[in-house]
Amino acid sequence: MSYQKDVEKFMLAGEQSITTTPELKNDQSQLYMNLITEEYKETLSAFKDNDMIEVADGLADMVWVIMGMCNSCGIDFDSVWKEVKESNMSKFVDGKSIKNAHGKIMKPDTYFKPNIKKALGLE
Ligand SMILES: [Mg+2]
Repeated sequence: MSYQKDVEKFMLAGEQSITTTPELKNDQSQLYMNLITEEYKETLSAFKDNDMIEVADGLADMVWVIMGMCNSCGIDFDSVWKEVKESNMSKFVDGKSIKNAHGKIMKPDTYFKPNIKKALGLE
């Protein structure tokens, strides 16, 4: 299963274009950025209302439009995710993390940045 492929099918059925070359400056990318903002606001509102059903719906809608954005501007999401996952996992030392007062997992010396350029096929 691939969320990005599911959304690709939807977009092709709706006569939207799928781009595989990284390119941000197109109308469809702007549309999907607007949709991400809209879905984020809906989800935040549902969260404030303590509405579990609408939060779950909103989160799925957010993933949907984020995949739509990836398809609109040529991002292979799985490749980017792999880089980000490896980077995030480098925050653990011997399986342990350092957290700040808010519970955020911090970056130790072992941390390395994701190579997004590589993930996008740009190097
Ligand atoms: Mg929604």
